[in-house]
Amino acid sequence: MARYLVVGGVAGGASTAARLRRMNEQAEIILFERGSHISYANCGLPYYAGQTIQERDRLFVMTPEKFHAWLNVDVRVRAEVTAIDRASKSVLVKELDSGRE
Ligand SMILES: Cc1cc2nc3c(=O)[nH]c(=O)nc-3n(C[C@H](O)[C@H](O)[C@H](O)COP(=O)(O)OP(=O)(O)OC[C@H]3O[C@@H](n4cnc5c(N)ncnc54)[C@H](O)[C@@H]3O)c2cc1C
Repeated sequence: MARYLVVGGVAGGASTAARLRRMNEQAEIILFERGSHISYANCGLPYYAGQTIQERDRLFVMTPEKFHAWLNVDVRVRAEVTAIDRASKSVLVKELDSGRE
């Protein structure tokens, strides 16, 4: 079974993971995001700063749980990829809350 590792969970990463799922229903897809949120509305930030959008939560249009339920993508937030070894096709990931690698 194919396995894809996606680094970053906003526009580029989430779009890539969604596209991979459309191309391959069987693949294992793991998405690593070092922040706490995925697919948040960067473009809405000026509206939040300008108070057109009042509630911060409205910037978060997707959650790891929803992304998993909709696309069967294993989303790991607060997980920073610190190295990529192309030869062995592996990554080193640091879990930011526990410090575990
Ligand atoms: C204030 C603001 C307003 C904007 N308005 C618009 C607009 O109106 N229209 C428009 O088209 N675009 C707009 N943009 C630009 C748009 O948001 C960006 O083009 C888009 O977010 C880029 O997406 P990306 O996934 O490439 O990068 P990013 O959004 O930067 O996402 C990269 C993600 O990868 C994560 N990451 C990076 N390195 C690692 C690592 N080693 N391990 C784990 N995770 C990692 C980061 O934490 C981040 O969440 C705006 C941006 C900002 C900041």
